[in-house]
Amino acid sequence: MGLIRVLVLALLIYVVWRLIKSVTSRQRSATPPDTQRMLRCAHCGVHVPEHLALPHKDVHFCSSAHREAWLEQHGD
Ligand SMILES: [Zn+2]
Repeated sequence: MGLIRVLVLALLIYVVWRLIKSVTSRQRSATPPDTQRMLRCAHCGVHVPEHLALPHKDVHFCSSAHREAWLEQHGD
């Protein structure tokens, strides 16, 4: 009798521990990733993350090719 009680208690502790772990890990994954500012390419209109965008004065570009093309159209 005593052994079964210990086993049941151990199982309960294990289940509760697993529940707590799954809840905490779900909370961690539910938090959104760092909100990345998206900037619009002035040439083609595609949105690129800020760290990948190529700035020029007050506009941004998705690639150096589009920056060159835009500069050809709009001048410096
Ligand atoms: Zn572009």
